[in-house]
Order: sequence, then structure tokens, then C-alpha cells
Amino acid sequence: MRLFVAIPIPASISRALIELKSNERGFRWVPEGNHHITLKFLGETDPSSIPEIHRALSEIHLQRFSLRLDGLGSFSSKGRPSVLWAGVGRIPPHLPVLHRKVLDALWRVGFEPERRSFHPHVTLARIEGVSSQAFSAYRKKQPAFVSDDFPVGNFTLYQSRSGSGGVRYGAIGSYGLYE
Ligand code: ATP
Ligand code: MG
Repeated sequence: MRLFVAIPIPASISRALIELKSNERGFRWVPEGNHHITLKFLGETDPSSIPEIHRALSEIHLQRFSLRLDGLGSFSSKGRPSVLWAGVGRIPPHLPVLHRKVLDALWRVGFEPERRSFHPHVTLARIEGVSSQAFSAYRKKQPAFVSDDFPVGNFTLYQSRSGSGGVRYGAIGSYGLYE
């Protein structure tokens, strides 16, 4: 099964993100309710590992914090825009700490941490076949985006399943942060 660990985005914020949707060609928008901030992508994993993954993630202790999404950005692949995202405005110290704790916990059960630095973001759309020029023209037309503050009270272990209706994420475990 395909697994990842992420911070879920509350429904009210997900609704606000959906408002950014446009009919531009080449954009595949993430549907409402699927928005998240990935902390660690585990990839294809044997289901027999779930108990130890669950145990490792359950041992993480950290205080709750709040986040605000502020600003849009993009990743490119082979010189072309590939992902449109909303970034985390001012990164609260707890967020990289949570990321580090998740990587450490999973490293102890055999998942290699990625070398790339942590760039917290919410993917809004996957982009295909759009030139850099067309993409910058699109970006110039886009209004600024800032979300309300929202609390991060837990993080989640998700299973990702792709089917005819697109990808579906199912929560396998949820891990609370303390007050
Ligand atoms: P789809 O692949 O069908 O477009 P998706 O990317 O949302 O949908 P997954 O590929 O299962 O679904 O990915 C789940 C989450 O993990 C997403 O946030 C995705 O960006 C992230 N992710 C996927 N592959 C990697 C990877 N190799 N490294 C880091 N994060 C990844
Ligand atoms: Mg993917």
C-alpha cells in the first residue's frame, strides 16, 4: 500500500483553496478535502509494517501550533512548471520540529529520510504541458492569497489509492499534539 504522513488542512481552509481554481488548460486541481501538507512520503509499503509505523508515530510528543497559508508558488520539473502550491507564510518553529520528529521516528523503522530540505506547502494543482511563459502570464493574473490562521492539532498517516475518480486518501492513523 502507498503511504504518506501529512498535516490535514481543515475543511474551511480547503474550501478557500478551491476558490483559486481556474479552467486553465493543463491544470489538474486537487479536489476539496484532499489538501494537506506532506511531512513524509513512505511510498509502497508492506501492510505488515503498519503496527511499527503506528507505534513510532504515536511516540511523537509536541505541542499544538497554528499555521497560516500565505502566497502561491510553484515547482518546476525539466524547466517546466509542474506544481502550483500555497506556501506556509511565516514558518512556526514547531513545524520543522514536527517534520524532524516524523523523519526520525520513521528512520528508526527503516524509512530513509529524504535529503531535500523541507519546503512545507499545500499542492493546489498538478500542471502538465504548460510553458513557463504561459504559466507566468497566468500567475500575474492571480490575486494574492492569504488564509486564516488554523490550528494544527494532529498529523495523519494516509493511504493513497488511485482509482477512476482520481486519487483518494484514507486516514489510517491520527496522532494528536498536546495542548
Ligand atoms: P497523483 O499521484 O495521482 O497525482 P498524489 O500525488 O496526490 O496523486 P500520491 O502520489 O500518492 O498522490 O502522493 C501522496 C502525497 O505524497 C502527495 O502530497 C505527494 O505530493 C507526495 N509525494 C508523492 N511522491 C513523493 C515523492 N517521491 N517524494 C515526496 N513526496 C511525494
Ligand atoms: Mg503523486
